[in-house]
Amino acid sequence: MKSICILLGSNIGNDPIYLLETQKIAEHIVNNNIGLVYGGGKLGLMGVLADTVLKFGGTVTGIITQELYNRSEAHLNLTDLVIVESMQERKKRMMQISDGFIALPGGLGTLEELFEIWNALKLRLHNKPIGLLNVNNYYTKLLEFVTHSSENSFLTQKQKEMILINKDSEILLNLLIENYTLNKKIK
Ligand code: AMP
Repeated sequence: MKSICILLGSNIGNDPIYLLETQKIAEHIVNNNIGLVYGGGKLGLMGVLADTVLKFGGTVTGIITQELYNRSEAHLNLTDLVIVESMQERKKRMMQISDGFIALPGGLGTLEELFEIWNALKLRLHNKPIGLLNVNNYYTKLLEFVTHSSENSFLTQKQKEMILINKDSEILLNLLIENYTLNKKIK
């Protein structure tokens, strides 16, 4: 696995555990020699992630829209900052250049990106692993809803199990690396 896209909040949340876990995953990404791809923002957990990867000597590619860039929300010290016209273009680029995806805690932007990438996996538009970091049980209620949806026959058990879930960022990243390597062998 050469690159991983992390989806995460442009806020830091109300518990220091979110910030600490973001710093931890940044360290594991660098230790595994994986390049970071993310939304290119300087705010909240996004900024913490990029700063920490850079601090540990890793590479960071940010993909940001012209509008967010104009609003001075971009991180200007990344290895590479790609400016695109629309949110659609941004997600398309993220999907193209990343070997896998992990959602950390976040809000609407994170959820939207997670569901688009998850749905694209369902539709076989890509075959890259997706992980959900359920630190502090942040996503437990969302996962309960997904079970509810499956029980009501709107999604299948298989679709539900398409994403890898763990509370620990090191375990989760290792699961994604294994899954990616396995997929490559099957191809
Ligand atoms: P949210 O979860 O609503 O805080 O949004 C975070 C996600 O949406 C990130 O993965 C970004 O790709 C995108 N995003 C939202 N707000 C910003 C911002 N101010 N700067 C850069 N990206 C953002």
